[in-house]
Amino acid sequence: MRRREEITTKVVGKVERFDQADTAFTKAVKGLLGEKAQRAFTAEREEPFSRVFFGSPRHDNAINALISDFADGQINPNKITIADPTAMSEKIKEVAKFFGADLVGITHLDQSYVYSHKGAYRDFIRGEFGQEINLPHKYAICLGKEMDYRMMRGGHSYIDSAEVGRTYAVVANVAIQLAAYIRELGYPAKAHFLTHEEVMHVPLAIKAGLGELGRMGIMLSREYGPRLRLATVTTDLPLAIDMPVDIGVQDLCEKCKKCALNCPAGAIPKGEKTVVRGVEKWKLDEERCLRFWCSNPSRWMSCSNCITVCPWNKPDVWYHHMTVLFVERWALARTLILYIDDLLYGKRPSYKVKWLDYVKE
Ligand code: SF4
Ligand code: SF4
Repeated sequence: MRRREEITTKVVGKVERFDQADTAFTKAVKGLLGEKAQRAFTAEREEPFSRVFFGSPRHDNAINALISDFADGQINPNKITIADPTAMSEKIKEVAKFFGADLVGITHLDQSYVYSHKGAYRDFIRGEFGQEINLPHKYAICLGKEMDYRMMRGGHSYIDSAEVGRTYAVVANVAIQLAAYIRELGYPAKAHFLTHEEVMHVPLAIKAGLGELGRMGIMLSREYGPRLRLATVTTDLPLAIDMPVDIGVQDLCEKCKKCALNCPAGAIPKGEKTVVRGVEKWKLDEERCLRFWCSNPSRWMSCSNCITVCPWNKPDVWYHHMTVLFVERWALARTLILYIDDLLYGKRPSYKVKWLDYVKE
């Protein structure tokens, strides 16, 4: 895997901090994306898994809401001495994997990727909405958790929604436990995860070498492609950082447009990159995407078509590992893989998946 000084997505200007209240989710809650989207995020959800994972009026049953109060805690006053930050980084990665992470990388906490103000739905409930965020930690430990391949082929339906919610809960728990472990070493540490986050996970994870930004607007990792959920721990524990990676995603996404062609909302650009807040990238239209999520609440509450169809999203098998080896090294392989993927999995794949009493035709 090639490591490099800079991320593969070009930074061409100043990256201004972003107010969390301007995310599509918060706009939906405020009613700025229409009545249907507002109802989807504020009224009682139709399906039990989505109430358990994404919010129930019965607070005690909403797992991701319950854990949101455990992001931070007391610091052990008996601080250990760290003589070798590189060895500590290796240890922290092992600890994170012990708690359940599949991928771990470490980077400096770039303040450009700390939200300027709190603006999530849970912040509103906590009475913290609009508060300025001051997060002076030095490092970000970026955590990735794989989502189940078969269940993600059940998108868009309640099958993939359940898997997304479950994985968010798992990676949040990893972050909570890792932050607590670091505080027990005597250093400040805070967990950031769905329902309690002050940082933007994707750009930090890319800086930490977990993957590259793809056309669909999320990170593609070498191991799992886009089939991951992320969380972050920020801390002052002395650590050594990882370098970003170049695994060939920019060239592959330039040639491939499979996610854009299969997006039911037309939210993924088929054309060139544009400059967004100082970064040259393919700009996902999050508002269109989210409106689609909320368009038929009796059948789905989210969508994973882009993740499912991506040629990099394959099961953890030896021939996928071989393919990745070729794709990250040779431009020709990045052309060939697209033909092979269409041949084996179809240009417009539609998978039939059954799980419990749910069916995705
Ligand atoms: S999640 Fe669905 S609607 Fe959103 S960008 Fe991906 S394919 Fe499009
Ligand atoms: S589907 Fe193709 S264009 Fe989209 S992120 Fe995956 S490789 Fe890139």
